[in-house]
Amino acid sequence: MHKSVIAAQRIADVSLTKTELQRYSRHLIMPELTAEGQKRLKAACVLCIGTGGLGSPAAVYLAAAGVGKLGLVDFDRVDLTNLQRQILHGTKDVGRSKVQSARDRLLDINPEIEIRLHECRFSNENAEQIVADYDVVVDGSDNFGTRYLSNDVCVFKGKPNVYGSVFRFEGQTTVFAPGLGGPCYRCLFPEPPPPESVPNCAQAGVLGVLPGIIGMLQAIEAIKLIVGIGEPLIGRLLHFDALKVTFRELRLRRDPQCPVCGENRTIFAPIDYDQFCGPREQASVPGISVQELKWKMDAREKFELIDVREPFEFEIARIDGAKLIPLGEIPERADELHREQTFIVHCHSGRRSAQAVRLLKQRGFANVYNLEGGIDAWSDLIDPNVPKY
Ligand SMILES: [Zn+2]
Repeated sequence: MHKSVIAAQRIADVSLTKTELQRYSRHLIMPELTAEGQKRLKAACVLCIGTGGLGSPAAVYLAAAGVGKLGLVDFDRVDLTNLQRQILHGTKDVGRSKVQSARDRLLDINPEIEIRLHECRFSNENAEQIVADYDVVVDGSDNFGTRYLSNDVCVFKGKPNVYGSVFRFEGQTTVFAPGLGGPCYRCLFPEPPPPESVPNCAQAGVLGVLPGIIGMLQAIEAIKLIVGIGEPLIGRLLHFDALKVTFRELRLRRDPQCPVCGENRTIFAPIDYDQFCGPREQASVPGISVQELKWKMDAREKFELIDVREPFEFEIARIDGAKLIPLGEIPERADELHREQTFIVHCHSGRRSAQAVRLLKQRGFANVYNLEGGIDAWSDLIDPNVPKY
């Protein structure tokens, strides 16, 4: 059991009408919820960032469950290609504003609640002001810039951020809440992958039901935080593979050096996320392609493959034979390696490993190469059995 994110005095004047008692009766009869829990839901304000694949199921269930104030941020219009998964919107809504279509659907499900619309792009100019009014944020965004922005702003404002992401047949979810003892998104991913290495749903596709599963898990986590029941998904990442039908749980660590939630913070206000997540100059370090790595492996050439990602990423996906030395441990562990050997260094997309190559070169390693495109390119081009994340 944990504490509710809704302070006790907030529910002092909240009461449930006769209609509400009836509507929520299946909640009220559960000893874990009761009328007290339902009042917390009624007092709660939840912000859904995005009303797309993840935001649709999350908002539908949060509305049905009786979350008193539901905020929706989206600037987009409903497109026919959305309807395969974005169940908030119907065929009649094609061309309409997503937040307006969402509001109509949600109020039809539950007219007892209040829907607040933020019909705009969630940006570094408005994010802090929007998030300030809410107790919990459900991030259903589909791009890295918005994820970093919502993460940073939630850390600044001390709001739990229920994260979800989907890719083809796989999805993951966790609760970022440094205020409640867990890591934040930046603790896990200090830097975004280069934009050209990450296909979005429009390029890579997604099984329509998949965001349904992940978005509903996000709704469950939001409800648990509000009611104050169960074990929140803080410090744990749940990974779901629809083809294998497996749920895997990975432990997440907080990074004491995190620039947003660490001990010596350097970021106190939203930054320029377009620039942060945008294209960068290619790092000038010697590199090899995934095809070259495969040839070297097949030819049994002598080299050592070093993986500089974090242990939780290694758990999700790995290239056989790779030795794990997270980037942060390279300086102290470089002496474990023999300088005369050849090393190929990889990470998720090639950016962290380029940094590792630079660090190793500074320490006298002559034959170090960066695996261009990282394990991501490896699963795209060489071994599709290596899961993408
Ligand atoms: Zn952090």
